[in-house]
Parts: sequence; structure tokens; C-alpha cells
Amino acid sequence: MKFFTCPHCAAQVFFDNLDCTCGGQLAYQPAKSEMVPAEATCANRKSIDCNWVCEAGQELCQSCTMTKTHPDTSVDGNLALWRRAEKAKRWVLANLRHLGWFRETDTGARPVFELLSEKTLQGPEQPVMGHADGTIVINVAEADPATLVERREQMREPYRTMIGHYRHEIAHFLFMRLSKSEKFLQDFRTNFGDETTDYAAALQVYYETGAPADWQEHFVSEYASAHPHEDWAETAAHVLHLNDLCDSARASRLVVGETGFEMLSQDNLISDGLTLGIALNHLNRSMGLEDAYPFVISPNVREKLTFAAVHLKRGD
Ligand SMILES: [Zn+2]
Ligand SMILES: [Zn+2]
Ligand SMILES: [Zn+2]
Repeated sequence: MKFFTCPHCAAQVFFDNLDCTCGGQLAYQPAKSEMVPAEATCANRKSIDCNWVCEAGQELCQSCTMTKTHPDTSVDGNLALWRRAEKAKRWVLANLRHLGWFRETDTGARPVFELLSEKTLQGPEQPVMGHADGTIVINVAEADPATLVERREQMREPYRTMIGHYRHEIAHFLFMRLSKSEKFLQDFRTNFGDETTDYAAALQVYYETGAPADWQEHFVSEYASAHPHEDWAETAAHVLHLNDLCDSARASRLVVGETGFEMLSQDNLISDGLTLGIALNHLNRSMGLEDAYPFVISPNVREKLTFAAVHLKRGD
């Protein structure tokens, strides 16, 4: 993510800012990816701090429009969960626009989001995150930082974040769009295997026996070993992590290697991203924090990352 400039005083401001230290009100304009004075703002600005401008002739912004269902805000705690869940979603959508997805010139389908809470008026529920036919279900429980840490420990996943959940589920959605091309499907199967094998059966086996002992040689995460669809989602999400990491480093004027950071479609993305991951871990350790990038990438995984990187950059 880049840094932004206040349209009132030219100070540096950030993606989520609603206002600047100069007192000026800010709104994010996704089409231009810049901060503008807060005039035509999203109707969710007051309730959930959405700082995007509204779409022409609409009340909501491009991101909020994609949310079909949000948590029932009459239940205690749900408003804060919804607010944090939408914040992560806006970040991920802005990254994807940068790569060419869901822009005005993109005539393909958009995902529909159902942001569901475990807290409902009818009592506790367990919404399961997933993607089906263009609809993405996000359980907002982990938008609460304490719950997130608890579940990260429970699931024994070294990396688990709301941004990660969105990237994973959107990767499933993007597969649906990309797989309309026969050429993509053929190349996909060479890299990831046959995605038409029984999904439910594969997941059941995974939950019973876990990942194979040598999973790190072939997969970016344990879960990626469950089925080619999950391998794609985990790998593509990882490319989105690396892309954003490189993008933010470039904005911060950090330099890695000889070329700096190239955008997707270049193998540099992977090597620069990985170098940056190691640097980031080292910086975190100096602050007594856990590794921000707890991954080891094998040559096999690297090939899959490169394949995903090529296809995630969408030309207009
Ligand atoms: Zn300002
Ligand atoms: Zn909005
Ligand atoms: Zn998945």
C-alpha cells in the first residue's frame, strides 16, 4: 500500500485516515487511488468509519456495496467487529484494484460478501468462512484481536489474520473467473493437480490425517495440501501478501536487491518479497514480537507462486 497526501495541507496521510492533523476531512477515491476532500462520502462513514467516496449516484462506496449481509448491530459487540472486518476488506480490495481487478474497466463478476457474526439475537452461531459461486462468507469473530490470537493458537497456524482470510477466499473467487480460460485450466492442472477430484472427501481425509510429513517441499501451508483448490487459494493469497509487502516497502523507500521491487509478473516479486519477509522478521524480533512472515518457501512452492503471480496481474 502506498502513502497518501492530504488534499488540504499536503501532509502524509494513511489509507484508513478519516481526517488529517490539519483538521481537514479525508475520503479515499478508489478510481484514482488518492485522498480527496470528504464531500461525496460513503453512507457507512459515520457508523463503521468507512473513508471511501460513494459510487456515482449511490449511497455506498464500491467496497460497502459488495457487502450483501453484515452483522446485526443491535447485538452487543457486532458493530466493532463489522467495522474492523470492513477495514481489512477495503485494504484487500484496494490492492486488487491496483492489480487490475474490479476496476470500472473490468466487466467481469464481482464477489458478494456475507459478513456474519457468531453473536446473533437467536443465540450463538458458527458461520463457516468460504467461497461458493461468487459469494464469500467471512466470519467476523476474528476481527477481535484477542479472539484472533486464541484461534491462531487453537488452529496451530503461525499466520492467521483477517486480511489473510479475505485474500484466501477472494483467491477462490478469482479462480472461478480465471478458470473460464481453457489455457489457464491446463496450466493450472500441471502446477496444482486436478481440481475436479472430490473436494469433500479430500477435506475429510485432511482433517483426519493432517498434512503429509514432507508438506513444506510442495505446499506453502499445511492446509494447502488438502486439495488443489485450497492449494491455489493459499498460494494466490501468498502472492497477494508478497505483492502488498513489496508495494508497502517501495512506498517506504526500502530497497532490496539490485532492482528494488517489481510488480507482479516478474520473478523479482517472489525473491524481493522473500528477502523482505526475512528482514521483517528480524525487525520484529528486535521489538520482541513474533515473526511477521513465518514461512519457508521451497523451490516447488516458488514455481507455483510464480504461476499465480503471472495470473493475478490483470491487464486492462
Ligand atoms: Zn491535512
Ligand atoms: Zn463504504
Ligand atoms: Zn479455501
